[in-house]
This record gives sequence, structure tokens and C-alpha cells, in this order.
Amino acid sequence: KEELNMIQGALELRTKTVEDVMTPLSNCFMISSDAILDFNTMSEIMESGYTRIPVYEGDRANIMDILYVQDLAFVDPDDCTALKTITKFYNHPVHVVFHDTKLDTMLEEFKQGKSHLAIVQKVNNEGEGDPFYEVLGLVTLEDVIEEIIKSE
Ligand code: ATP
Ligand code: ATP
Repeated sequence: KEELNMIQGALELRTKTVEDVMTPLSNCFMISSDAILDFNTMSEIMESGYTRIPVYEGDRANIMDILYVQDLAFVDPDDCTALKTITKFYNHPVHVVFHDTKLDTMLEEFKQGKSHLAIVQKVNNEGEGDPFYEVLGLVTLEDVIEEIIKSE
């Protein structure tokens, strides 16, 4: 029954982690910080269908900013504006969480915070070198809600 699935989904918020439900980095639609907002780039962003787009510098794991599609409302593609001009102007905070954050905690953070998207990271101490923060993907409110209402 659907109701039972929802109850089960809600109970599982305490045990499942953001890593279980996130969109892995390799599947994330992102944009390079040195992009120019010309016609092609703006079309790609619109066609992606996503509202929030992580902005990376150099490496895809190096996320510096979040671009909201609504930030593009007054951008004229003919001006070939630098993306940096836009991200500096809006300067949206990048919300970062650890991979083992439980979904009930994440839901609480989304309810309290301003943003409904968070970047998922973990401390990687597997290699020889110093431990470092490794970006694994992104999680949104939608991913958490999906976990509650999923009916298999
Ligand atoms: P909204 O519904 O608020 O307009 P959206 O459709 O862009 O936002 P969400 O509804 O928050 O995105 O999430 C839908 C799914 O897409 C989730 O699984 C989420 O992890 C994923 N997602 C969100 N943004 C991106 C992105 N930039 N690249 C890849 N996947 C994303
Ligand atoms: P959903 O994830 O379902 O689309 P949302 O649009 O509220 O919900 P976000 O796009 O992450 O989620 O926005 C978070 C909050 O920030 C919203 O409540 C919105 O009112 C607020 N917000 C967004 N842009 C601005 C802005 N330019 N000035 C003030 N508040 C803003």
C-alpha cells in the first residue's frame, strides 16, 4: 500500500544518508567559472532544465558558486557577459554537507536554510597523502522528499 511505503520512507530518513540519494558529481550539470554567457552557453543552461547550477573552477570537484537560472533574467546574450560578473553580483552561498548526513537532519537543514540544494563532500583519507575534502555530488530537497514518497 502507498501509505505503508510513505511511512516506511519517513522512518528510513533516520538511517539513510545524503550519499544514498544524491546526484553523483559525474551526472551533475555544471558550468565552468570562466564561461562567457553567450547565446550557446545560455541555451545550454536553459535546455538543461535545472534551476540551480554549480559553478566550478578548473576541476569539476572544485565548486565555487551556485548559479540560479533566474540570475540570467537580465542577461543579454549579445553582451557576452562573463559568468563571473553574475556570480559575483548574486554571490549565493554554497551549502556544503558531509556524505554521512542523515536524511532527517538534511530535511531539517533544508527547512531552516535559504537554499534547497547542498554540495555533498567527504573527508578522503584513503591515499598516501594528507586527507582532503572530496566532493561526491549534490543533493536537493527533491531527493529527500522522493525518498519519503517513493512507492515501489
Ligand atoms: P526546481 O524543481 O526547484 O526548479 P530542479 O528541477 O532544477 O529545481 P530539483 O527539483 O531540486 O531540481 O531536483 C531534481 C533532481 O535533479 C534531483 O535528483 C537533483 O539531485 C537533481 N539536480 C538538481 N540540480 C542538478 C544539476 N545542476 N545537475 C544534475 N542534477 C541536478
Ligand atoms: P524549491 O527548491 O522548491 O524551488 P525555493 O525556490 O524556495 O524552493 P531556492 O531556489 O533554493 O528554493 O531558494 C531558497 C530561498 O531563497 C527561497 O525561499 C527564496 O525566496 C529565496 N531567494 C531566492 N532568491 C532570492 C533573492 N534574490 N532575494 C531574496 N530571497 C531570495
